Amino acid sequence: MALKITSDCINCDICEPECPNDAISYDNKIQKTYIINPDLCTECVGFYDAPTCDIVCPIDCIIRDPDLVETPEMLTLKYKHIWGK
Ligand code: SF4
Ligand code: SF4
Repeated sequence: MALKITSDCINCDICEPECPNDAISYDNKIQKTYIINPDLCTECVGFYDAPTCDIVCPIDCIIRDPDLVETPEMLTLKYKHIWGK
C-alpha cells in the first residue's frame, strides 16, 4: 500500500529529499503539510528494503494507508511503470 502522512506532520522537510520516486511534496493549498502522491509511492520497492520516509520521520507520522492496499507485485509493477522498466 502507499504510505500517507498524517496531520501530525511538523513540516521538518526531512522526508521529501529522501524519496527515490519524488512522491513527497508540500501541500500549500489544503493540508499545509507534506503529502505523499500514492501514484508515485512504491513503499520504496525498487530501491530500499523498507520505506525510507517512515524511517527518517522524527515523529512517526507516516503510516500505511489502509485505503490503498497493494501487494508487493503491484508495487513492483508501479515501480516499473514509473521508471519505464
Ligand atoms: Fe517515497 Fe518510499 Fe516514502 Fe513511498 S515509502 S513516499 S516511495 S520514500
Ligand atoms: Fe512531516 Fe515527518 Fe516528513 Fe518531517 S519527516 S516533513 S514530520 S512527514
